[in-house]
Amino acid sequence: MIYDLLRDEIKGFKNYEVSNIECKYKMDANEVPFSLPESTLENLQEIVKSANVNRYPDPVSIKLRDKLAEKCSASKDNILVGNGSDEIIHIIMNAFVSPDDFVVYPVPSFSMYRVYSEIAGANKVEVSLGEDYHYDVGEFIKSIKEYDPKLVILCNPNNPTGTTISRDDIIKILEVNRGITVVDEAYYEFFGETVIDLINKYKNMIVLRTLSKAYGLAGLRVGYAVSNPEMIGCLNLVKSPYNVNSISQAIALSVLEADTVKDRVEYIKNERKFLMDGLSKIDGLKVYNSQANFLLLKFDDADYVYNKLLEKGILVRDFSGDNELSGTLRVTIGTREANSYFIKCIKEILS
Ligand code: PMP
Repeated sequence: MIYDLLRDEIKGFKNYEVSNIECKYKMDANEVPFSLPESTLENLQEIVKSANVNRYPDPVSIKLRDKLAEKCSASKDNILVGNGSDEIIHIIMNAFVSPDDFVVYPVPSFSMYRVYSEIAGANKVEVSLGEDYHYDVGEFIKSIKEYDPKLVILCNPNNPTGTTISRDDIIKILEVNRGITVVDEAYYEFFGETVIDLINKYKNMIVLRTLSKAYGLAGLRVGYAVSNPEMIGCLNLVKSPYNVNSISQAIALSVLEADTVKDRVEYIKNERKFLMDGLSKIDGLKVYNSQANFLLLKFDDADYVYNKLLEKGILVRDFSGDNELSGTLRVTIGTREANSYFIKCIKEILS
């Protein structure tokens, strides 16, 4: 059996599951409902032509790093670009985590922290979020003191709960953690608070960002890490040479130059309030406050609601089978049309 040849860490392993259901309203994957900015669409042919796809891409994404550095008031030596921030989590694990090292991360949170920890053969230290999924910094500090982990991951705002950890609490963790601290800011633009300015004070911190969410480029797979140059050099040691393709680099650059993100983020934040207000008036569900582009909802029978929503053409993310999230579904903020329809459907399903 080929299965028997698998590394022991991978046997019995459960990878990230992605649903491929076609639906009129796709509200399951924290994407934004916008297409490329007008200026990028108008120049698409030129952008693709100048990407010279007969040649290998720029292995170190220089132009893109320059632009990203400008956006986050850093230098290009502070930046590493990845095939999605997903790849960068994997790169960090490959660079720093040996079998039996300890990795600390919150639960519930983005499931790839677990997946990549397991692939690395690490010991997972899963720190439960507290009441209403709020971060309990004391629990993190207790785990760090007990296990002296190689890696601590914080997700801010946290997916799928939308809850946040304060700058002061992140600093408390940075002050005690001797290993690497990753602050995953995938949803930063919808929240507005960052710790990027601390990269030179805390040399063992890496901030992760992505163009998959607010920038609307999930299909292009572009994420980036921000840290001090020594850390970026260490991550580069294990990065595949041509990890970000030339079309993705060129379109990402054009989208960053178009500068449409502010307006789009304002739209989503306004819709988040609209959806939150509408859903809060309905009996039979609990809505968690969120600083990201999604809301976590709790129902008595989430499975029933999930299937009824599917019948009505809406796909959301079902977490009802997850121990830490039982009874919950996550809905991504969509257009006004999608959000109004979602509220109407929930009213009908719960009436
Ligand atoms: N971090 C978090 C918290 C996420 O929710 C996601 C995507 N769901 C990622 C990282 C990965 O994003 P990407 O690989 O598209 O950059």
